[in-house]
Amino acid sequence: MSKYIFCTGGVVSSVGKGVTAAAIGRILKARGLTVTIQKLDPYINVDPGTMSPYQHGEVYVTIDGAETDLDLGHYERFVDIDLTRASNFTTGQVYNAVIAKERRGDFLGATIQTIPHITNEIKQRIVHVGKLTNADVVIVEIGGTVGDIESLPFLEAIRQMRRDVGPRNTIYVHVTFLPFIEATSELKTKPTQHSVNELRGLGIQPHVIVARSDHVVSDDLIDKIALFCDVEPAGVVPLGTTSYLYEVPLLLEDAGLGDYLSEALSLNGSPPDLSGWRDLVDSMKSSKPQARIAIVGKYTELHDAYMSVRESLYHAGVANGYDIDIEWIYAGDLEKDKGWEHLKSVDGVVVPGGFGYRGVEGKILAAQWARDTQTPYLGLCLGMQVMCIEYARNKLGWDDANSSEFDTRTKHPIIDLMPDQKNLADMGGTMRLGHYPCVLQPGTKSYDAYRSTTVDERHRHRFELNNAFRGELEASGLVFSGLSPDDRLVEIAEVRDHPFMVGTQFHPEFQSRPDKPHPLFNAFIQAVIGRIEQRELDT
Ligand code: GLN
Repeated sequence: MSKYIFCTGGVVSSVGKGVTAAAIGRILKARGLTVTIQKLDPYINVDPGTMSPYQHGEVYVTIDGAETDLDLGHYERFVDIDLTRASNFTTGQVYNAVIAKERRGDFLGATIQTIPHITNEIKQRIVHVGKLTNADVVIVEIGGTVGDIESLPFLEAIRQMRRDVGPRNTIYVHVTFLPFIEATSELKTKPTQHSVNELRGLGIQPHVIVARSDHVVSDDLIDKIALFCDVEPAGVVPLGTTSYLYEVPLLLEDAGLGDYLSEALSLNGSPPDLSGWRDLVDSMKSSKPQARIAIVGKYTELHDAYMSVRESLYHAGVANGYDIDIEWIYAGDLEKDKGWEHLKSVDGVVVPGGFGYRGVEGKILAAQWARDTQTPYLGLCLGMQVMCIEYARNKLGWDDANSSEFDTRTKHPIIDLMPDQKNLADMGGTMRLGHYPCVLQPGTKSYDAYRSTTVDERHRHRFELNNAFRGELEASGLVFSGLSPDDRLVEIAEVRDHPFMVGTQFHPEFQSRPDKPHPLFNAFIQAVIGRIEQRELDT
């Protein structure tokens, strides 16, 4: 049977609850335990797939094609696991399921209520993920902040879980924030106390308080939190702000959290081995030369929208001994002759995924600049599509080349709707989603990067390269280096006469890990470094 660690958040949102849950996963995995992590999101949307990145940041896609919360990206990267749709559910999904059961007549005349019907559905999904993965430990992160109306059924369900599976098998971790008052130079614990009171009012007494703060937390303060919140001093874990995300597991481990959890849950782990992780963090912290890379997107003021892309670049940078300095460029600016000085200062260009026409012409201009100047380019999904559109417009002279997503009347819809997408009416969950195999063509840059014939990659798109134009594009120097096994879909395109101009219809950024950079990001960064070294030789 699995044991459960429930993570709640208090005081403010964005306190680092997701990273904390992910880091706990890593320190338990370092003890040889099997870990899985689940995120419960209190909003009513069925999934974040149809939500604006302004609302929710990046949509993270699992191997089985679920569109999920970006915290799943942290979980996968920190713990190095592949999660599934069972690892994220929302209030919307819970109600949907309960109402469907009610309509089917499953409840035989009962009045359907939050307790027990909704809470039972929640608990069933929590228990399910543990069984599915055979996990020693299931870490469950409750989205939102304690005190929100929306999260009440989730909190009630995790309260009941302790009764259902027993106190030795459950532990509650509350992640809070200690504000710093500048005038008196002190950290304040009162909001933490209030937030714990709120939890207690719901019948949950936390065992661990992870106290996030931008300043050093003294032993006195730890004792104070322990006393007021009725937690053992060893259960109060200060977590200072760090510039290195991947240091968080080490900070928690060194503060004794791994041992504390192991003891409290009687986990039969081995002594923790975080040596590899420590080496990784050391190399992240060591001083390195910088590579400047542009991310040309549409939500550039909101870096969370491209979280996995950013992390993948860092992973590949560290592996190759470089720090990555990202130049965020709003694609719409390039259309208005702005931001070009920033683009021209970089040694590599990434155009990430996206939907809708805003900024697309700017992305096409960025691709053109990268092709003309032989600057390494990596296009991800929409980034691959704009790379092909640019090629068709400027190399083949098809001025109206476009995607039918943006221009339904063009004579050159070189990117077009996939046949299986043509008759779909629903927007949510209807794209080509999740893992599909891709066969690599020998003698290409992609093949050299992967050194493998078939790979599985994650997708999230409706449009594809139009096969009607494949021949002409190929004849003019575009190489289709990755194809679906039946040859029907172009998965990777690359420009032949270019050091590295590669676009993928899939999203490689979802499979990169801090200690295992994705082969294409790795090859891209190596091309960037090659350019930097060449530039230095030339000057
Ligand atoms: N909008 C494009 C499509 O649906 C690209 C999607 C993406 O970049 N994820 O095909």
